Amino acid sequence: MARTQLQRARDGEVTPAMDRVAERENCDPEVVRESVASGEAVIPSNHAHDALDPMIIGAEFGTKINANIGTSETTSDYDTEREKLHTAIEYGADTVMDLSTGSNLDSIRTAHVEHSPIPLGTVPIYEAVKRAGSPEDITVDLLLEVIEKQAEQGVDYQTIHAGVLREHLPKTDGRVTGIVSRGGSIMAEWMEAHDAQNPLYTHFEEICAIFAAHDVTVSLGDGLRPGAIADANDAAQLAELRTLGELTRVAREHGVQTMVEGPGHMPLDEIGDHMAQQREICDGAPYYLLGPLVTDVAPGYDHITSAIGATEAARHGAAMLCYVTPKEHLGLPDDEDVRDGLAAYRIAAHAGDVAAGKPGASDWDDAISAARYDFDWRRQFELALDPDRAKSYHDQTLPDDTHKEARYCSMCGADFCSMRIDQDARGDSMADLNRSVDLAESAAASVNLPPTGTHDTSGLPTVSAAVCEHAENAIESDD
Ligand code: SF4
Repeated sequence: MARTQLQRARDGEVTPAMDRVAERENCDPEVVRESVASGEAVIPSNHAHDALDPMIIGAEFGTKINANIGTSETTSDYDTEREKLHTAIEYGADTVMDLSTGSNLDSIRTAHVEHSPIPLGTVPIYEAVKRAGSPEDITVDLLLEVIEKQAEQGVDYQTIHAGVLREHLPKTDGRVTGIVSRGGSIMAEWMEAHDAQNPLYTHFEEICAIFAAHDVTVSLGDGLRPGAIADANDAAQLAELRTLGELTRVAREHGVQTMVEGPGHMPLDEIGDHMAQQREICDGAPYYLLGPLVTDVAPGYDHITSAIGATEAARHGAAMLCYVTPKEHLGLPDDEDVRDGLAAYRIAAHAGDVAAGKPGASDWDDAISAARYDFDWRRQFELALDPDRAKSYHDQTLPDDTHKEARYCSMCGADFCSMRIDQDARGDSMADLNRSVDLAESAAASVNLPPTGTHDTSGLPTVSAAVCEHAENAIESDD
């Protein structure tokens, strides 16, 4: 049986995936192997995902970003999903989770796996609910069947809410927002209905056996994550976190690559301590956070409230950040929301990496700052996190080609451009400025540069036409 990246790393093998990751992260392959062997990093890479360009998730590497996409009961248009996947990859998502709960689940998932160069994650309990009709009608056999089928389809990581235990549920009674995780609320309803323990917990070793056979990375879901800052770090959240630590050790014993999911909503000043607590309880397992949102008052702007928390989390060792879009709490995100959410999270991840002093992280900043001071507008656009938006905003007021040579923009105007005034005042002493930037030699050149984020998709199939065609064919043959 093919072994997992974790098992091979423990045996001292540097796999082709580890070599590729080392190339992308600009580090020694042995560093990658050691991180995977220790469980402090994971390379989600299902044996059946042939289109995958391997990447790594771990605190000592560049902070990664996940984009959630997927249909809902009310919005299940495949063309929209295709565009979201395309947009997610184009604007720098490192992984994508298909959280579809609408129709054609298999077809969409298969199409995503077939053409996506980035890892695909799922939450199998959603499909189990859809097939069972309601949470209480889910059976253990159905759960295991769905998990195994998705593993066979090539899903690289699956979120399993195995840490929500019966004894944790009363601890949520005093909360402002109760249980806000979809997976957590489904498992709570099942446990109440059956007066029994969480089957994902009681059958966790069987699930691990499935994951080990396909090298599916388990993402231990935080079903009791706080949904309001008042609920952050409460007894329910921390009780579940301790269970996630226990499950981390079980999964690793089975050779399963493991990461742990985190909140949610949390005041800014609590994030650092919480990160340290997770690291200790879960033996350094990569922490994958949703935000966290640092305030609850800004629906419509929660890509910003959460990016603030995500930056702090990245500074304190978050391995991956699950993006939040402006539609959080309000509705299903569309293509433009995906773009805005990803931009916010690439900023958070990069700012966190800069603040954490990761090698080469600030080289990108130095390069664009130099271009800015040089009035090299084309280079500035090229280096911008979202080049299209930077150029279009500039061109709204100064659209002509001659304006690309201008020593000002419309913000301050020609007479009051401080950089132009500064340069004129310096005259010959301009050469004294310390502005040496060799981006080509930097880790930033291979890890962070736009427009594809941390992923080199050159040479890989573009998602658009191929995915659409495949999915449409598959959907036609779906029941
Ligand atoms: S005009 Fe103002 S904003 Fe524009 S380049 Fe000059 S200093 Fe910067």
